[in-house]
Amino acid sequence: MPAMTNRIPCSAERLNLLVPQMIQSIAQAAAFRVARQYVMEKRVRISDANDSRILSTLIGNAGLYEQQIHLKDGHLVSACSCSVPEEPLCRHSIAVLLEYHRWAGHQESSPSSTQPESPSRPQTHHSNKPSPPALQSSVADITLSEILKLVEWLQPAMKAIEKEQPLPPSPTDEAGGVSAWILAIKSLDDRRRETEDVLVTLEAELRDRNAYAARLTQQLQASMAELKTAQAVSRNFEREVNTYRATLAKLGELTSEVAQYDEQIRTAAREILEKGSHFDKVAMSCREVAETLHASVKTTPQP
Ligand SMILES: [Zn+2]
Repeated sequence: MPAMTNRIPCSAERLNLLVPQMIQSIAQAAAFRVARQYVMEKRVRISDANDSRILSTLIGNAGLYEQQIHLKDGHLVSACSCSVPEEPLCRHSIAVLLEYHRWAGHQESSPSSTQPESPSRPQTHHSNKPSPPALQSSVADITLSEILKLVEWLQPAMKAIEKEQPLPPSPTDEAGGVSAWILAIKSLDDRRRETEDVLVTLEAELRDRNAYAARLTQQLQASMAELKTAQAVSRNFEREVNTYRATLAKLGELTSEVAQYDEQIRTAAREILEKGSHFDKVAMSCREVAETLHASVKTTPQP
């Protein structure tokens, strides 16, 4: 079942009028690049085609995809079983159109040959000719000698996979049939390698993260040690402050004692002053008595 279907307005009346430049002008650059690579690697297999319709399969990087492309009511309708979100055509549909154009051009330049030269040539017929039954399965193309080549290739290939070495080269250059299977095996092996690479990357990341976590733990421990030191310093400081407070309290007591003494001294001074004035009075009285006595002595008649 095709997963992606696209309808593109298209004025071409026959599919072979869709030249690569036109396809390139509407396709995403990256998709077109990959598609051209697929064509070069002969991964496209056109199983049935005429002027307005192509049925095909393609060996992609993640498996085999089916395409149905046709011209209808002024539209190019393409459907592919992939889920690659490329608009308006996925890389696989582009590759099929490129391969179809290449093949159609070849057909026109040698009109005498209507039979495909090799299994890679699509079993194609134009609509103005009677249609022979379409080739339904690639198995029909495979000869016994190819099967033997495949079996021969499989043994070193299995060993290579076991030892994680690169797969041996394909024993046949012809596309389709056995070489399609070999391509599929190679594609699976590539994916396994990619997965391993991802695993290695993830492991390296995990190691980095663990190292980072260890560094963080060390920093945390250092911070905690600093905190403990700071707490000890703070406790010492608190003790000192308490000592100062006690000293200040004593100083306050001493000050009030000094004030009391001061008051006592003032009182004593006042008392002394009072006593002084009393003595003055006594002295005055004494003087008066003396003067009186003196006067009385003078007035007394001399014998
Ligand atoms: Zn596709």
